Amino acid sequence: MFGPLVCKPGSSKKNKTGSWRIESRPKFLHQECIGCKMCISACPEACIVGEEKNKYEVDLAFCKGCGMCALICPKKDIEMTKEESEI
Ligand code: SF4
Ligand code: SF4
Repeated sequence: MFGPLVCKPGSSKKNKTGSWRIESRPKFLHQECIGCKMCISACPEACIVGEEKNKYEVDLAFCKGCGMCALICPKKDIEMTKEESEI
């Protein structure tokens, strides 16, 4: 039998998951962003905030470090960086 499953995207807004982000975190470079919001759409935790190009940031309290945002960004304006410290 399976235990409780997390099925809805973004549900970790209610359960902070940032504490088990262990390897990397996204860094928004704010250089080539065109404001397409694909990073926001791709983020399974709905933890990218911002209203206009070159202003997007991540709420690290909820980011898992999955890298989907960096992978999907058409301008490669998000870089995954090595985790340096606990939040
Ligand atoms: S790495 Fe990017 S896509 Fe993954 S949870 Fe963090 S902000 Fe969202
Ligand atoms: S996917 Fe890249 S270019 Fe598009 S809004 Fe996000 S950071 Fe900007």
